[in-house]
Amino acid sequence: MLTFTDKSQCCGCTACASICPKQCIQMIEDKEGFLYPQIDTTVCVDCGLCEKVCPVLHPVQAKERPTVFAAVNNNSEVRMQSSSGGIFTLFAEQTIQKGGVVFGACFGKEWNVVHRYTETLEGLSVFRGSKYVQSDMGTSFQDTKRFLDQGREVLFSGTPCQIAGLKNYLRKSYPTLLTVEVACHGVPSPKVWNSYLSDKKNINYINFRSKCKGWKGYHMILEYGGHKEIIPSGESLYIKAFLSDLSVRPSCFACPAKINHSQSDVLIADFWGIDQIQPEIDDNKGCSLVMVNNSEILPLLHQLDCQLYPQNFDCALKYNSAIVKTFHQPANRKFFFSLLSRCGFSTAYRMTTTNNIICSLVRTLYRKL
Ligand SMILES: Cc1cc2nc3c(=O)[nH]c(=O)nc-3n(C[C@H](O)[C@H](O)[C@H](O)COP(=O)(O)OP(=O)(O)OC[C@H]3O[C@@H](n4cnc5c(N)ncnc54)[C@H](O)[C@@H]3O)c2cc1C
Ligand code: SF4
Ligand code: SF4
Ligand code: SF4
Repeated sequence: MLTFTDKSQCCGCTACASICPKQCIQMIEDKEGFLYPQIDTTVCVDCGLCEKVCPVLHPVQAKERPTVFAAVNNNSEVRMQSSSGGIFTLFAEQTIQKGGVVFGACFGKEWNVVHRYTETLEGLSVFRGSKYVQSDMGTSFQDTKRFLDQGREVLFSGTPCQIAGLKNYLRKSYPTLLTVEVACHGVPSPKVWNSYLSDKKNINYINFRSKCKGWKGYHMILEYGGHKEIIPSGESLYIKAFLSDLSVRPSCFACPAKINHSQSDVLIADFWGIDQIQPEIDDNKGCSLVMVNNSEILPLLHQLDCQLYPQNFDCALKYNSAIVKTFHQPANRKFFFSLLSRCGFSTAYRMTTTNNIICSLVRTLYRKL
């Protein structure tokens, strides 16, 4: 039966809960708002399946050195709606056109982030754009297996650890499965996201990565109750908490699935640095970095309606350390979460980051507890 001693040993992929033949594993929210498996030991028959599929207990070593491209979707409208160069949509359209199913992360009813699937081209728009919150997988792994067992084409997109969990859960390779991982800096807590949204009533639009003022220096847009906020990423407290790693999951400080352990066919990311490497293709509307981990999918990539520019692996990584690098846990992360429930996101963030002498003293004392 699955046990772990430290929260960093669980990325929340749901492979264990999805595989359990007795359905005695539930994903339960902890104090920080992340989901962890909880086993009903009175029902467990100790079959060991949950341990077998855990990607943290069984990381794999990537087999191939990726082939790298810069890529830009020829459809400028779709590219503007996407976070980078709009390459996800092209892979997804290809799957749908073959009668397949696409899984991705979208907003739920309460602006929470959930994994869902679609079988239509129109249904793809909700997956476009990065949502900087850990998505709730629901029954996505079981649904994926069901479609694959029916012989359908499936594109599953998600973070590297979600793909690793899915691959372990499936326990065999399916020729009709294409896995697309997004480069992953880390995933913020759904509780932090809910707290951030709590004073915003009647929300009708959220975009974490608007290109209204350009791809580099992106803006976060929120429309609610007659207000429209367009916040530069460098000034959004939510994005600052994410990028400074205060709000991300403990497993992100010991990531089990980044590049050398990736199980995906292809990784997509922002091609930061393209303005240095190949300035003539940078129009500040978004360029994707595409790393093909499985050379069998290269013919698929060459069929996409996009501009493709071969690149050097090391050169591309130089500008995007999050693809390989796992970051250190900030000293005040626990302090931030301890304040979150009591004071709400904004106060917790400000008290965690301010230079005010009293707050600094309180933080130092808290760290010593
Ligand atoms: C939490 C997170 C962290 C990221 N960190 C980095 C980074 O450090 N460096 C970098 O270069 N790129 C990062 N990205 C990826 C990048 O922002 C783009 O999503 C990626 O380049 C795809 O862009 P696109 O233009 O092809 O398509 P888009 O249409 O923008 O792609 C959307 C894709 O992202 C997936 N997605 C969106 N939100 C989530 C989520 N919460 N969980 C799982 N999948 C999600 C969708 O399912 C879809 O596959 C991150 C994305 C996320 C979600
Ligand atoms: S050991 Fe088997 S029955 Fe017990 S929780 Fe794990 S998968 Fe379920
Ligand atoms: S990493 Fe995934 S499989 Fe392992 S314990 Fe966590 S949810 Fe279960
Ligand atoms: S950083 Fe690693 S553990 Fe964290 S969400 Fe991304 S892939 Fe998963």
